[in-house]
Amino acid sequence: MQFTGKAIVEAAAAPLYVRASCTEEALACLAEGSFEVLCGGTDFYPGHIDRPLPPLVLDVSEVAALRRIEELPTGWRIGAAVTWAEILEHPLPRGFDGLKAAAREIGGVQIQNTGSIGGNVCNASPAADGIVALLTLNASVRLESLAGSRTLPLSEFLLGSRRTARLREELLTAIEIPRFGTGARATFKKLGHRRYLVISVAMVGAFVELDEMGRISHAAIAVGACSARAQRLPLLESKLLGQPLQSSLPSLLDEADLAGLTPQDDVRGTAVFRLDAVASLVRRSLLELLR
Ligand SMILES: Cc1cc2nc3c(=O)[nH]c(=O)nc-3n(C[C@H](O)[C@H](O)[C@H](O)COP(=O)(O)OP(=O)(O)OC[C@H]3O[C@@H](n4cnc5c(N)ncnc54)[C@H](O)[C@@H]3O)c2cc1C
Repeated sequence: MQFTGKAIVEAAAAPLYVRASCTEEALACLAEGSFEVLCGGTDFYPGHIDRPLPPLVLDVSEVAALRRIEELPTGWRIGAAVTWAEILEHPLPRGFDGLKAAAREIGGVQIQNTGSIGGNVCNASPAADGIVALLTLNASVRLESLAGSRTLPLSEFLLGSRRTARLREELLTAIEIPRFGTGARATFKKLGHRRYLVISVAMVGAFVELDEMGRISHAAIAVGACSARAQRLPLLESKLLGQPLQSSLPSLLDEADLAGLTPQDDVRGTAVFRLDAVASLVRRSLLELLR
């Protein structure tokens, strides 16, 4: 079946809502008009409370190709429209425990049933829980348009608070995670003002791989809500390399490891409080990896 975005736009008067049935139809719409993409709508609609909805809305939530989780020889591919509930239900290796823990923390069950991984990444909030866990997994994003496709590391896709490298005509189709070994372990910890349904004051993701001697051969620690975009902690990561998993790991953390963070004072906490919270969350995450 051929889709022309022009025909779709001309066939209806604005405002126009299109629910794409396949990726080709979605790309045709994006090539033709200034469509805003809608998936679960859990960021999209709250973002339009005080302003009118855009005239052209492209709903991609029912595109089957965006709703799959696949294991490939090179790693895993999670479709952009896969919901947090689907990630929680899917059998994934232990290295995904951090992403699953983040999924469990995203809103309540209704939000997890509707909100997608792609929406979390494209919304690019500094407080997006999924992004922190994905950074520890060295995730990349797959962007497609009628002109072609490209894959970007997530760390390059995120340009700042609510800013990404996505071009207007591009659709995020998948998140790609490179293969890791069976010895991988991961966790995610979030601090908010109450236990559930809360925007993060700070959050930390931690991921390690172990060699055959039980020593850390790869480490990734990421922090969110403490800078315009979530950050990895490369100094701490390099100190962890070669260490056995032992209860003294948290003592490796010192102030200099957090120097790349630029937390702000806001209604949820002061910058000083946030840095203190991050230090505690990092230490607790390292201890949790021992279990
Ligand atoms: C009550 C409530 C609680 C929440 N709690 C949390 C929380 O604890 N932690 C957290 O991280 N988030 C939270 N959120 C935010 C939100 O639920 C998540 O970010 C969710 O993953 C967004 O997914 P979505 O499918 O709803 O995105 P949408 O709202 O549909 O889209 C979000 C943005 O991404 C764009 N977009 C979506 N899909 C694509 C695509 N495939 N290609 C290109 N652009 C795309 C849209 O244009 C839009 O700009 C909460 C939201 C609510 C309403």
